[in-house]
Amino acid sequence: MNNDHSATVIRAYHHGRGGLADILEKAADNTGLSPAMMIRLLDSPTPSLLEKLFAAARRQRERHFGNRVFLYGFLYISTHCRNRCSFCFYRQTNTRAIRYRKSPVEIAESARQLARSGVHLIDLTAGEDPCFITDAEDDFASVIDAVRSIRADTNLPVMASVGVVPDTILDRLAAAGADWYACYQETHNRQLFDQLRVGQNFEARYRSKVAAKARGMLVEEGLLCGVGETSCDLVNSFDAMSRLGADQVRAMTFVPQAGTPMKDQPPSSSLRECITIALMRMVFPGLLIPASLDVDGLAGLRLRLDAGANVVTSLVPPGQGLAGVAQSDLDIEDGRRSMEGIAPTLRTCGLQPATIDQYRHWVAERKRCAYFHDRRVAEAC
Ligand code: SF4
Repeated sequence: MNNDHSATVIRAYHHGRGGLADILEKAADNTGLSPAMMIRLLDSPTPSLLEKLFAAARRQRERHFGNRVFLYGFLYISTHCRNRCSFCFYRQTNTRAIRYRKSPVEIAESARQLARSGVHLIDLTAGEDPCFITDAEDDFASVIDAVRSIRADTNLPVMASVGVVPDTILDRLAAAGADWYACYQETHNRQLFDQLRVGQNFEARYRSKVAAKARGMLVEEGLLCGVGETSCDLVNSFDAMSRLGADQVRAMTFVPQAGTPMKDQPPSSSLRECITIALMRMVFPGLLIPASLDVDGLAGLRLRLDAGANVVTSLVPPGQGLAGVAQSDLDIEDGRRSMEGIAPTLRTCGLQPATIDQYRHWVAERKRCAYFHDRRVAEAC
């Protein structure tokens, strides 16, 4: 995010302060929330203001998706990583992290179990595992093979969440059938990025998503809440997500992790994440917005769905020795992060799982629109 843009948003904040009633009316009627209003909602949330915001976000979800939600199975296939992100339990030097690397047989079995349970997508996630990134001819072969075999075995869409990879690997992921590439910036404030993603390159991370889109993949961008970002940073990130043309946008609350430089940071409430989810629903009404089970487990699902999320992510099959990311074991082995586990919450929220055909249709339509959008951009250039 360049400084000029930040200054523009900050000016809008100071000049655009309206009365509370004005903000409520606009949030409720979907007449458009200015950056100043969004910052005010994040900075000074009152119960009545939030009630109206969340109701407006749910109406937007209903308008675009009815009462259907999409469900993503999560397979964390390697917890090894060469990076040292200051917020992450699995950073290279954390001796407390439990490390594993799943075999092709184990990955296939877990994917089949998730598919049988009825998820709409398999999210294949890994750290930047030095065993995958070898610079040899068969670089990344095990991940590419996993994508290909999951597609063949389950016939489900696959998301590859495997860190920043070279364009040649994106080519092979796309050829193997990966529909999605997820790679989270976490913040678009460069200074904060440098503190969070220690020793990594902001542009390279952002460009990897642009490159994935150029190869026809859909892209997920993500933000962390509670890591020292300002509300202005969050709103600026919406602009960056829009320019990227992200197809799925997620916000997650930072959870302090043992053995990391940020272990003593006070935990923040999930409310800021929920406000961010609701604001993203207002800004990007037709996009996919996750309610992750990875922060507060099943107990936090309703809050996020009530804020306008329309994808339940991080469903993890029990009994497979698989970990979560922000919460390495919360609600996994007791089956609460399963289809059966979340069903009562969906019913309470008046929602029901989409069919797999509905999800496939959304993915195909989004890819078709992205294709024409990218062509128009290319022609305009
Ligand atoms: S956030 Fe991802 S890239 Fe960073 S240390 Fe953790 S696993 Fe590695």
